[in-house]
Amino acid sequence: MANNNYVISTLGSHSALQILKGARDEGFKNLVICKRGASQPYRSFKVADKIIEVDNYEEIHELEKQLIKDNVILIPHGSFVNALSFDGLNELRIKYFGNKAVLPWEENRTKQREWLSKAGLVVPKLYQDPSDIDGPTIIKFFGARGGKGFFLARNEQEFRKKIAPHKDKKYVIQEYIIGAPLYIHYFYSPLNQELEVMSMDRRYETNVDSIGRIAAKDQIDLNIESSYNIMGNQPLVVRESLLPEIFRMGEQVVKQSKKLIPGGLFGPFCLETVVTPDLDVYVFEISARIVAGTNPYINGSPYTDLRYDGPMSTGRRVAREINDAIKSNRLEKVLHSDKAS
Ligand code: ATP
Repeated sequence: MANNNYVISTLGSHSALQILKGARDEGFKNLVICKRGASQPYRSFKVADKIIEVDNYEEIHELEKQLIKDNVILIPHGSFVNALSFDGLNELRIKYFGNKAVLPWEENRTKQREWLSKAGLVVPKLYQDPSDIDGPTIIKFFGARGGKGFFLARNEQEFRKKIAPHKDKKYVIQEYIIGAPLYIHYFYSPLNQELEVMSMDRRYETNVDSIGRIAAKDQIDLNIESSYNIMGNQPLVVRESLLPEIFRMGEQVVKQSKKLIPGGLFGPFCLETVVTPDLDVYVFEISARIVAGTNPYINGSPYTDLRYDGPMSTGRRVAREINDAIKSNRLEKVLHSDKAS
């Protein structure tokens, strides 16, 4: 079942291991582009057919001609925009799984909110003015990687005190949802127009997920600043009665994307949510591509076990979609079309 005409490729970071293994399991050759000094995992875990080392990811532009000639299909993951820049990614003419027209909707918090609200999902309230704060809020800075510097405030006075050191930064004041974080991984097939729930995770963030290990008194005495920098992911399944709502949410997001974005959203995506004690699911963000929360499921998740005969990671599901598209002569359906940019 070798699909020798195409080479599945990605950048060596984030979720590359499962993308490469998934490609192989579906009969593709693969290639990983790594920062010099970061290729050891791809060598040691024996998942890569070819490794190209670069000093800077920008070098992909110099490799572009050859990659196009070699029939490379790029699978984007969460490190792509950071590694190549938004414009750099848009400019690339290498075959690309997914729809680049979704990128501006994912990048911009206001557009994301419009998309999610129009899809009928419950989103945390936004406060336009600090004097409106009437409950717990989280203050999020723009471009703050890993939630660095985010803080909580219960009222205007507390907000003013905590914002003082951050004079020139742009931020939003968002309702803080008290509940359990839940990250839901979906896959939408543009070939058969079906939405699948692939898996779920909870993030392991430092230091908010470890602060509970020390007494409240010590937390105050040590003057600890909470931070949401992610260091790993833990597997999770939800109570089964939540599943119908979870499917509905994913379907609504895809349906709305077709109205807002030429070509719509397809492939893997993730809804980042907090579930309240009343089991209301608040969505605070969407990631419109494979997320690292799928990494615990290289051998499949409890949900993919139900649906597939063999192990099915999200990385493999992407390769399966490309495979199905090739077999049915519809490859253009799963690749970014320049018309949409
Ligand atoms: P990334 O882009 O990596 O997802 P970010 O810097 O955009 O991160 P968010 O994901 O928006 O930051 O938030 C960081 C963390 O803060 C989340 O993992 C979540 O646990 C928590 N969080 C964010 N928004 C809310 C909210 N409205 N209510 C409760 N918790 C929240």
